[in-house]
Amino acid sequence: MNMSFISNCYRLQALFLLLSTTSWCLSPYARKPNHPLKPTVQNVARDFSLAREKMVETQILARGIKDIRLLESLRRVPRHRFVPFKFWDLAYTDRPLPIGDDQTISQPYMVAYMTQQLELKGHEKVLEIGTGSGYQAAVLSELSNKVYSIEIICDLAQQASTMLNHLKYQVQVKCDDGYKGWPENGPFDAIMITAAAPKVPEPLLEQLKAGGRMIMPLGNNYQELILIEKKQHGTSSRRLIPVRFVPMTGEVRLTTD
Ligand code: SAH
Repeated sequence: MNMSFISNCYRLQALFLLLSTTSWCLSPYARKPNHPLKPTVQNVARDFSLAREKMVETQILARGIKDIRLLESLRRVPRHRFVPFKFWDLAYTDRPLPIGDDQTISQPYMVAYMTQQLELKGHEKVLEIGTGSGYQAAVLSELSNKVYSIEIICDLAQQASTMLNHLKYQVQVKCDDGYKGWPENGPFDAIMITAAAPKVPEPLLEQLKAGGRMIMPLGNNYQELILIEKKQHGTSSRRLIPVRFVPMTGEVRLTTD
């Protein structure tokens, strides 16, 4: 075999390799951006504290929320960990975000406003109806002694509970219809419903301590936040602001009390 034939073979092989690598680099597979479904280790380590600080200053303080403990808790709770990874860069913006199953995590200001109305001092037992992502529960747990949260969609309850445990928040979550409350753990000093109901769920009022506060969006198409205070005898209720929440489902839609 003559030597020039062999070296020509090598040249051809080299040319083939070059062409195939170049064409792969130009192929749509090579150019496709990497969209991982789960955050990588580097992403988990990303520091969002500046975004949180900006959120507190421009959306919360600027709108008149003054409770120092609440502001501190909003500076600490990593909201991005409670939204799908693809929305991490929007986690601290002034809007609700989808969390799957047609549900949403409330806008940061709404979380702050509702929490402030409960006037938590640190010793309270709190019940939340509508765990969703678990973010509101995390904020509540920074401000009170014990938080219980009920979510009617079991996938969401499971995910929220996993994230809350992972971040070491002491919140007990269960999948159930929140209409019935959680009598085994009641009565509660404060109750927050984060889905809009056509009426006040009677069992929840029963599980509220005298002197306790309950906040919830009331209504269907038109909704308002209402704050209920339970007295020794009876309750008083105040309408606060118009709001837009996802509907509370389950028994509250069936009963006629
Ligand atoms: N607090 C949540 C946002 C809640 S969105 C957060 O911080 O992310 C309202 C949630 O209420 C939804 O997840 C919805 O599934 C839940 N929900 C609706 N009806 C409910 C019911 N009867 N009992 C418990 N949860 C309910």
